[in-house]
Amino acid sequence: MYLTVLGRHGPYPRPGGACSGYYIEDGPTRVLIDCGSGVLSRLMEHVHPAHLDAIVLSHLHFDHCSDLFVMRYALDQQDVREGEEKRRVPLYTPAEPFETLKAITTGALFAQHTVKGGDEIQIGSLHFSFVPMAHPVPTNGMRITGSDGAVLFFTGDTKPYPGMEAGPMGADALLADACFVNESQTGPHMNVKEACALARNAGVKTLYLTHMWGKYDTEEEVKKEIDFSSAIVVKERVRYCI
Ligand SMILES: [Zn+2]
Ligand SMILES: [Zn+2]
Repeated sequence: MYLTVLGRHGPYPRPGGACSGYYIEDGPTRVLIDCGSGVLSRLMEHVHPAHLDAIVLSHLHFDHCSDLFVMRYALDQQDVREGEEKRRVPLYTPAEPFETLKAITTGALFAQHTVKGGDEIQIGSLHFSFVPMAHPVPTNGMRITGSDGAVLFFTGDTKPYPGMEAGPMGADALLADACFVNESQTGPHMNVKEACALARNAGVKTLYLTHMWGKYDTEEEVKKEIDFSSAIVVKERVRYCI
């Protein structure tokens, strides 16, 4: 399984950056996870969205879904052979906030499905198991198992909560929201030390820190806070082998 980071920022991007977006490849299976601002352009360096097997959103905050509004036009203008129907791309999201979901999907070429914690789906060779996270809107963490058994867990946006290590337990890779840097920062996201504690408690092999703050460049500060042996701050447009 390969993870390409299309965007690593939130709640808005750094200059030249993009918000949450992750392109997953496993053999011929191609899935986009989250689609914040700036993600569509970078996705199209790899694949036209009409050819994705599915899009899965962790939640419906704008830094995770805003480029779907623009993707609608690309799906409308997709090339099809004569007599062929335009393809509707499967889209998996939480059910709320309903108004946001309705605005994204009404009249768009998405085949819409809502998913919640406890649900499991298969997309091509990838198995998704959803876990409810702790964030102001319903948010699905996701445990993704590839064809060779490798496991990637993505937290979406979340603060820490008791028992949260069950989701990423034993995963090969933990892609974790570390929007906050210092331990003094608490709120709807994890700080770096909390993300590291999650990686330790879950016994994951590698921690990938993401959702870097958009307001100023926190990368060097984040690196100083890391206290997990195998942790990296993800880079945009880099492809990681899971
Ligand atoms: Zn976010
Ligand atoms: Zn959020």
